[in-house]
Amino acid sequence: MQMPPLEQFFRHFDPHSAAIAGAPVTERKLSQLEGCYADSPAFKAALERLDAVIYSVSSLELGGGDGDLHIGLGMVMPGKIGAEYHLTRGHLHSWREAAEIYIGLSGSGMMLLEGEDGTDAAVPLEANAIVYVPGHTAHRTVNTGLEPLTYLGIYPAKAGHDYAAIAQSNFRQVVIEQGGKATVMRRKDWLETIRLETLRADLENGAKE
Ligand code: MN
Repeated sequence: MQMPPLEQFFRHFDPHSAAIAGAPVTERKLSQLEGCYADSPAFKAALERLDAVIYSVSSLELGGGDGDLHIGLGMVMPGKIGAEYHLTRGHLHSWREAAEIYIGLSGSGMMLLEGEDGTDAAVPLEANAIVYVPGHTAHRTVNTGLEPLTYLGIYPAKAGHDYAAIAQSNFRQVVIEQGGKATVMRRKDWLETIRLETLRADLENGAKE
């Protein structure tokens, strides 16, 4: 079998701009993240101000065979919607058995992991961190810092991305800024906190009128 010239498998990448030489970039704007953030009024207000790019992924797909690997270089911009840090949509792999390796490059953040068996975890994603995402595990990255968060993801070429399965239920955990610190909470608890805060604000406004 004729092998391709092996030089084509070398690329430079820039961890700060999240670009891989010659690789296409996919950008995700805020409007494409409807339903991902817990605080719907805060999402609407932010979108009215600006449909900003929240994250981008450069994809290097040098082979598409059964044994091949794809490489994604992700960058999540710093910021929050309400108190919830900027995040990626998150996905399962279409081929559920497919695992993935994340390697943190710069910035600081977290990965939310959620197994199809109901287990979940939140782990750090930053320089010198490796996160192994086993098969059957939904994964989302969150930027909890003030700089862009960048990381490499390496996964089987035939993994595929399934966004719909996790979009229906959304992740059970959220990463919230509380007193200047990133805090992982259950989504239902955070929604209840927002509901009570809104109620209290409405009462206070009512009292002033
Ligand atoms: Mn993945």
